[in-house]
Amino acid sequence: MESAFDDEMQLMLDEIRSDVRNTRALTGRHELNPRVIEALRTVPRHVFVPEELRDRAYRNSPQPIGHGQTISQPYIVALMSDLIDPKAADVVLEIGTGSGYHAAILAKLVAQVYSLEIIAELAEKARERFRAMALGNVEVRLGDGHLGWPEHAPYDAIVVTAAARELPAALIEQLKPGGSLVIPVGEHFFGQELQLIRKDLAGHLHVVGVLPVVFVPFVETA
Ligand code: SAH
Repeated sequence: MESAFDDEMQLMLDEIRSDVRNTRALTGRHELNPRVIEALRTVPRHVFVPEELRDRAYRNSPQPIGHGQTISQPYIVALMSDLIDPKAADVVLEIGTGSGYHAAILAKLVAQVYSLEIIAELAEKARERFRAMALGNVEVRLGDGHLGWPEHAPYDAIVVTAAARELPAALIEQLKPGGSLVIPVGEHFFGQELQLIRKDLAGHLHVVGVLPVVFVPFVETA
């Protein structure tokens, strides 16, 4: 892809690689799966930020997308995508479509992505972006992520992109034995931890704390 953003994309990828090396003691990952790097390279991030913020779309930081929400930091998108060990045939559930950026990255890595968003306007904008990119393997539904999306369960992996106070039981239930769930857990903006939860073939959960993170909190509907 030849574009005005090529240099910025390159810088973003370099910064992600450097963040991955700098956090290896916490995450246990020295480098990203090359497929994840390739997915990052093929998704134009400037398409997913508001027009007036395009010049900073490739910075390795979150950006506001309206409604008090953010598009996640590229390094975090990369790390979370890597942690679920995505396979080409996988079916993945994302909670928190937001801009659609993370869903688009996942769509490059797996067979099918289902993404739930609670704010109608964000869901609609993300759908438009996927249509414009001819990304046919992402479906967005308006709904509360706490409940998951039972119709397509069980999922090979679940990626939650808003911080939950505790692990939503429905998501655990909708995870396939052998699958992984990655989720920021904690109150508000402080004291959150990114957790990687694996469900073994016997259905037992193995929870690993990966690193401290800052995500916007889950919107509570109850
Ligand atoms: N993955 C997004 C990041 C989104 S930020 C991206 O790549 O841009 C978190 C998103 O979760 C926000 O869009 C927010 O509206 C959504 N969200 C918050 N609470 C939710 C809930 N209960 N159910 C579904 N989505 C929720």
